[in-house]
Amino acid sequence: LIALGIETSCDDTCAAIVTSDRQILSEVLRTQHHLHEPMGGIVPKLAHHAHMRNLPSVVQEAIQSAGLGEQGIQAVDIIAVTRGPGLAHSLGVGLNAAKTLAAALNKPLIGVHHMEAHALTARLTTRDPDQPNDRDVSVSESGVPIGSDPYPSFPFLTLLVSGGHTLLLVAHSVDRYTTLATTVDDSIGEAFDKTARELDIPWLPGRAGGPGASLEEFAKGSIDPGRYLERLPIPLSLRSSKNEMKFSFAGLKSAVTRIVKQEKATSPSGEMEESKRQDLAAGFQHCAVTHLCQKVEQALVDCHEKGLDISSLVISGGVGRNATLRSRMDEICGQFEYGGAIATDKMSSKEKKKLKRASTNATPNETLKAARPVRVICPPPKLCTDNAVMIAWTGIERYQQGLVDPYDIDIVPKWPLDMLGTGVVPE
Ligand code: ATP
Ligand code: FE
Repeated sequence: LIALGIETSCDDTCAAIVTSDRQILSEVLRTQHHLHEPMGGIVPKLAHHAHMRNLPSVVQEAIQSAGLGEQGIQAVDIIAVTRGPGLAHSLGVGLNAAKTLAAALNKPLIGVHHMEAHALTARLTTRDPDQPNDRDVSVSESGVPIGSDPYPSFPFLTLLVSGGHTLLLVAHSVDRYTTLATTVDDSIGEAFDKTARELDIPWLPGRAGGPGASLEEFAKGSIDPGRYLERLPIPLSLRSSKNEMKFSFAGLKSAVTRIVKQEKATSPSGEMEESKRQDLAAGFQHCAVTHLCQKVEQALVDCHEKGLDISSLVISGGVGRNATLRSRMDEICGQFEYGGAIATDKMSSKEKKKLKRASTNATPNETLKAARPVRVICPPPKLCTDNAVMIAWTGIERYQQGLVDPYDIDIVPKWPLDMLGTGVVPE
């Protein structure tokens, strides 16, 4: 099965061709950062017009570079496109192009929820052990290694952390998701960006990841990362507000601002020394990551109590590039063990050993409760941010479940993921 994916929900114009056996045949991404950056944020009208200018040649390039042979676009079996959520006019450009292509070629059309696509990406970049044909480790044309992580079978947890989102979800199946927590103020990406600006962190031009990545790099220079920890709150910490499944970053950001002001006021030069700024950057990162970890831990407990046997935690979105976040989540999930598991072929030998150890120490009644760890899966950084590969792949997963859309579907700029599968689409 070959899918063409089109993504225009925000400020990148993307097209890609992906196969059901996990080959990324082509991927083209034309960014608009140079248009929006001088304006201090994304300008919807500029994005709309840039998509109109760029999409035809982006799609053309994706088709030409996919190696589809003489058949060209006729070799494509399905056309998948982001339907929402996102900027209304930007979404319209992609959706109309996809609908017209699909209708003209008489191919199935699949309207994709952008967040479902972020969640399902990890099922493209890992191998399904139940599919015998799926066992060869391959490397896509773009150099993305496929098959190095375990496969996230349903249900799994997804933590989506980006410039626009801070979301913790349960993925129950294709088309069915439950939101566990979202942010009540800033997204985590915004918090990293604002803090980087507050701390005058030199932006590393040409380096992927923007101010958040610069902050992470800058914090590595910290000699005393604990220096400010007493003055930095861990938001909605479990100890103070139990069971609160929400994210919040505004308070942490304000605390950073306060400390910077105080330090500047007491410094003879009126500036904050670099070493102190590094310590504050490290402190901020620690608190932001701890906040995410506490909520994930709580979610794992809640899911377990509800009898949901979570297989893994999939981390995606731009902030998912952060190495501290990845390793702290590894620690949390590695310690977390679900009962009721028995050794299966799907487990790595390390997991089997751990399970055996747990079983040996258990009383007979507890043997079956021996546990397996929840595994953390991070798609390659390139596929954590917006791209059309994930749209094409989600099109394939939906098509395989018989989920095809008519040619007259409309955009859905505001679309809670929980509404997928209910048959109801917001106006
Ligand atoms: P969305 O996809 O939700 O609409 P977006 O396009 O702004 O939003 P992404 O491109 O996924 O989001 O992520 C960008 C964010 O990720 C920025 O806020 C950036 O600072 C942050 N970021 C990137 N790399 C890192 C890193 N290593 N550590 C922390 N934050 C990072
Ligand atoms: Fe996105």
